[in-house]
Amino acid sequence: MTMANASNPFRGIRIGSASGAGLAGWQAETGRSPAVVHKHPVTYRCPLGHETTPVFADLAEEEIPEYWDCPRCGRAGSRRPGTQPGAVGPELYKSHLDYAKERRSPAEAEQVLAWALGQLRRSRGEEPAG
Ligand SMILES: [Zn+2]
Repeated sequence: MTMANASNPFRGIRIGSASGAGLAGWQAETGRSPAVVHKHPVTYRCPLGHETTPVFADLAEEEIPEYWDCPRCGRAGSRRPGTQPGAVGPELYKSHLDYAKERRSPAEAEQVLAWALGQLRRSRGEEPAG
């Protein structure tokens, strides 16, 4: 057992930034500059006619969700008028980390995940394995 914690490079990094800071945190962690991320606004309309336009960062067409929860009434809004979801599936409730994993290669996603787990263990006072 060594006493190298004093120079632990992870100290001082905010715990939980991956989930707490959302996309901005993810951009910071992945080194992506917001300046080079294309904003992609998509308008969704819920069954009650509320419109919401979340802005997705640099997503391909197939990566953009078909439905989006209405911030006013909580119903699922649709990108395409006339179509409504038959059921609310887990697809609607992906975390930012899930989106990040989809956007990165599996190897990169595992690195992000391992890093996040390490942060979690440190926050709980556990020593990382190895
Ligand atoms: Zn609504």
